Formats: sequence, structure tokens, C-alpha cells
Amino acid sequence: MPPSTTSRPRPRRGEGQWALGYREPLNKNEENKKNDDGLNVRQRIIDVYSKAGFDSIDPADLRGRFRWFGLYTQRAPGIDGGKTAVLEPEELDDRYFMLRIRIDGGQLTVAQLRTIAEISTAYGRDTADITDRQNVQLHWVRIEDVPAIWEKLEAVGLSTTEACGDTPRVILGCPLAGIAEDEVIDASPQIRQIYDEHIGSPLFSNLPRKFKTSVSGCSVHCVNHEINDVAFAGVTGPDGTPGYDLYVGGGLSTNPMFARRLGTFIAPERVSEVWAGVCAIFRDYGYRRLRHRARIKFLIKDWGPERFREVLEQEYLGYRLPDGPEPVLDPGVRRDHIGVHRQRDGRYYVGFAPRVGRVSGTKLARIADIAEAHGSDRIRTTADQKLVVLDVEESRTEAVTAALEAEDLQVRPSVFRRQTMACTGIEFCKLAIVETKARGASLIDELEKRLPDFPEPVSININGCPNSCARIQVADIGLKGQLVTDADGRQVEGYQVHLGGAMGLNASFGRKVRGLKTTAEELPDYVERVLRRFLEQREEGEPFAL
Ligand code: SF4
Repeated sequence: MPPSTTSRPRPRRGEGQWALGYREPLNKNEENKKNDDGLNVRQRIIDVYSKAGFDSIDPADLRGRFRWFGLYTQRAPGIDGGKTAVLEPEELDDRYFMLRIRIDGGQLTVAQLRTIAEISTAYGRDTADITDRQNVQLHWVRIEDVPAIWEKLEAVGLSTTEACGDTPRVILGCPLAGIAEDEVIDASPQIRQIYDEHIGSPLFSNLPRKFKTSVSGCSVHCVNHEINDVAFAGVTGPDGTPGYDLYVGGGLSTNPMFARRLGTFIAPERVSEVWAGVCAIFRDYGYRRLRHRARIKFLIKDWGPERFREVLEQEYLGYRLPDGPEPVLDPGVRRDHIGVHRQRDGRYYVGFAPRVGRVSGTKLARIADIAEAHGSDRIRTTADQKLVVLDVEESRTEAVTAALEAEDLQVRPSVFRRQTMACTGIEFCKLAIVETKARGASLIDELEKRLPDFPEPVSININGCPNSCARIQVADIGLKGQLVTDADGRQVEGYQVHLGGAMGLNASFGRKVRGLKTTAEELPDYVERVLRRFLEQREEGEPFAL
């Protein structure tokens, strides 16, 4: 009799977890990381590649380790979205780089902003995008110029270390940390401590994949603790002192999950070591076999928050964490800091909106000039692709507003300018299928013309591919770039529509409605129809929520 194929359970394949003994690489990425730490590429860029030029770059560095210092090759111009999945990576590579500058907590001085502006104009063809993780990205960077760029950045205390790659990325923080009248706690010291103690450390330079952090005491939760790998959200602790509630395992992309509360109270002085414990669990127990499962959210989905907390306390911290309360969430509140508002020291901050985060080196220099001319030395980036100037005297707020608006940086933007975001898209991104930035900017202009008095906040987030760099699943209207069939049967750029995403008290992922797609050309008509239908059918006081 042949042996039964159904009666014996199949042995489970290992997930590549180091802590369970899987130290041998199970895929090419893991192999590259084992061969050489990504942090080591810095010296090769300085000593070899910047001198010998693009063609001298080892492919394993070019498409792997360069990311440890914020460098990605750009998409070669003129390759349409239909070829993205078909071509080999090297066929999509341009000889220029995107360079991501990390801005932890979104905190910049005038001198730092001016330096970024100068680098953009000197080495980046005057490009600059504010990202939804508070970074600035430049384009058209040549390998020959990278050492000079680093020198300039480091001279003002900025860096690109671990801005990309399988590393702890930039730490998000509220742009109003330390100045907001209603903040729970100023998280700046904790952000600084994590950065100083752990960023660039070989202990955390080989994670299964990227690791996103937020630390914030913002009362409106503007850095979206629900969708970070690890998040510390400000709360008042059991004894009345401020600290943090700890969340683990949030993330969007193709398998969106909201972070889970561990139910602990983290005192400010423990944040850095707890952060290191969570990051170390990810390093040791994270799934490394398949890239698409190599995020901490899959581990916590399998373990649950109780077991995760137990492992954190017993194996990594060596002490028990106290239980703690949840932060207070307000369902209707806007999670941004746009407009002119009072600081707790009596001065004012001015938050303003470029279109979909796109600025330029020239524009960043103007912002630095405007801030300085009005007595401010502090500029902040936000997690919504916007900027804020801090510390403006009341008597100067109108002048600052006028100067920014003269640069088309709106302090009182339309609802569309205020809440539309777009990822990098096909202009520069090798994974993209469609255009995003220019499309987002023209969508804003169209909607402002067609619906000038639209009364309700509405977020419109645009991605160039199924990844979720612009957070499509948590927008009111999320647009995922893909090729669609137009009325004439042609394959053209378009979007799959997700409706009704939200964060906060009523957190939910937008519904992907089957068949709900629009071509890029018809996008303004489509969005206009959705918004007009809302206006016709809304009940009094009803917010825009689909
Ligand atoms: Fe690129 Fe896709 Fe991310 Fe947009 S969402 S930046 S197209 S990877």
C-alpha cells in the first residue's frame, strides 16, 4: 500500500528567525546582509565609488547596501509603468540617485534647512520633496557628489544614515513638540536619545526589513501611532506623571494592520531601552525567509500582544513594565498643524501646505529666509508632507503668512491642498506603475476650481503602485496606481479606489470596492462626482466619511 499523503502533518518551514537557529540566509537579501554590513558601504562610497564613478559600483552595494545611507537609484526616464514588473532591476536603473535625508522628529534649524536647500540647488537639480515620514528627498544626485553632500549635512548635524534599508528608519515626532499648549509630553529628548544610542549601531543594522518608529506626545496624534512598527504615544500615567503607551506592529503596504497596544506604561527615561528591546525582538524573531512577511506586524499577529509583552519583559528588559492607560483619541479631530496658532509660550506657529509635498531647493531657501527674517530659528516637517515655522511673535504672523503665500505655500489652504498626499511615483520610483505627484497637484487645482467651497475635511492619498508610501488605506479616498482599461479598450494609467479609510477612534481601512477604478484622465471627474454626491445626500453636520 502506498503511504498516505494526507495523514502526516507537513513539517512547517522555518521563517528564518535567528532566535530559532536559522542563521543561514534563506534569500538573496539576507545573503547580501550577511556578506557585509550595510553600514560598511559608507567608506567604499567615499574611497572608491565617488572617485571611480557609477560603473565601478558593486551591484550588491548599488541595489542593496546603498540604502543604508539613504541612496536609491532613480527610475530611468521614459520607461512606462507597463514595464515595471517586466524589466530586470538594472534595466530600470538610472545613473542618478534619490537621496533621503532623515529629519528625526521633523526638527530643523534655519541653518539646517538652508544647507538642504543649497545641496538641492548645487547637486540635485533644485529638487526637493517633503515626505510623509518627515524626511526630505532630493533627486538627480551623482555618486561623485555624495561625500561632499555628507560633509555639508554633517557639518550642521544632519545625516542620511539608515534613512532607507533594513534598519531603524527616521523617528517620527510631533512638529509642535515642546511648544504645543495641549501636548501630553514633549517627546524631543526621547527621540534624541534613541537616535544617539541606536541609529547607526551595528546591533540594529541587519533587521529583517525596515522598522518605523514614532514617539510623540501630540494631543491630536499627528504622527499616526496606529501604523508604525513601534510607537510611543503620550499619556498621563497612573501616578499622574506623563509617559507613553506602547504600540507594536502597525503598517500598511499590501497587508495593512493596525498596531497593537501592549497595555504598558513607559516612563520617559525607559523609552530608549524599551525601543531597543522591541527592535531586538524584531531582529531576533522577525521572519526573514520571505520579504513580504518580514515586518514586525506579522510576528505580533502570530504571537498576540500578551506574548510579545512577555518576551519583551522576560528576555530583553529583565523587568516587568507597569500597566498603563490608553491615550485619549478624538474621532473628529484633524491630525495636522496647518494655520496660525498660539504656542504655550505666547508666540505663534505657522503651518503651511505646498502641493503634495513638492517644493524645491530654491523654495526651501525662501522658507529659511522668511523664518529668519521674522525672528524664528525653527522649522518643522510634518507627517502629512507639510511644514511649520515656529516661534513667531504675534505681531509678525500676518507678515509671515503673506510671505509664505507669496511663494504659493498656503497657510489657509483649501481642504484639497490641505489633505492631499502623493508618493514619489513613476517620475523617480522604480516600483511605480503610474504618475502621482503631478497628478496630485493638478487634481488639487481642478477640485479647487470645481468645488471652491467644499465644506468638510477630505483626505485624498495617491500611490503609484500597490505599496502604500502615501497611506492610501487610511484616507477618505485612497488611490492605488495601476494600469486600467479605458473606454477604447486600451491599457492606460489609472487607479483602484479605496473608500472610507480612517485613523483614530474609528480606525478602519478603506474598502476596496470591486470594479471601482478610474483612468488617470478621468480622475478629477470621478472625485468630483463622489464629493458632489456627498453634498447632495449629507445630513446636517454629517462629516465626509464614506
Ligand atoms: Fe514607489 Fe509605490 Fe512607494 Fe509610490 S507607493 S513611492 S510608486 S513604491
